[in-house]
Amino acid sequence: MDFVVGLTGGIGSGKSAASAWFESQGIVVVDADIVAREVVQKGQAALDQIQQAFGDWVLLPDGELNRRALREHIFKVPEARKTLEHITHPAIRNSIIQQLAQAKSAYAILVSPLLFETNQHELTQRTLLIDASEELQIQRASQRDGQNADQIKTIIAAQMPRIEKQRMADDIVLNDGYLDHLYQHLMPLHKQYLSFAHESSI
Ligand code: ADP
Repeated sequence: MDFVVGLTGGIGSGKSAASAWFESQGIVVVDADIVAREVVQKGQAALDQIQQAFGDWVLLPDGELNRRALREHIFKVPEARKTLEHITHPAIRNSIIQQLAQAKSAYAILVSPLLFETNQHELTQRTLLIDASEELQIQRASQRDGQNADQIKTIIAAQMPRIEKQRMADDIVLNDGYLDHLYQHLMPLHKQYLSFAHESSI
């Protein structure tokens, strides 16, 4: 794949809505959140490494990862997060690279809430930020997930500040209207990405 667009945005900004629109245009979308779950499935090398690093308690009786136990452990022992990320981040990155290499569309999209935070933007030729005010993020994410505003605010506080993402992104779409409004802004970008992809393939 010669041309990959990294798509990011805070929780509830509209990343999934934007990705679904690109998919409807025939563009292959690799979702870093899905990859992150895939690499720790039973039978994957990263899960064996997690078991070796932390102990057998990280597994459920059926051999799958006990996410809840691991989450609680990381909450209590902050260094454990680093140990875990040392295992998972390279596995996620390798799998993303493989999936992007196999993508059969004019260009591909890598959607990731932590595109910049985990340097996944290095795997892309261009970046697109789906941007929304914190009020809208809270409203949308709480409607979608049934979490309360405080839980969403905690997640927002742990993500890279909006202003920094705005500084890093090549393209920004403010998703502050109806979904049709979002799609209207995505269409010219899609056309631009098609032409960039065409240029980079010749
Ligand atoms: P993200 O993937 O960035 O967390 P989503 O794309 O899932 O965000 O959007 C969060 C929620 O808000 C979803 O339920 C989505 O359908 C809804 N949503 C996103 N953009 C809009 C919009 N412009 N108008 C109305 N609802 C929206």
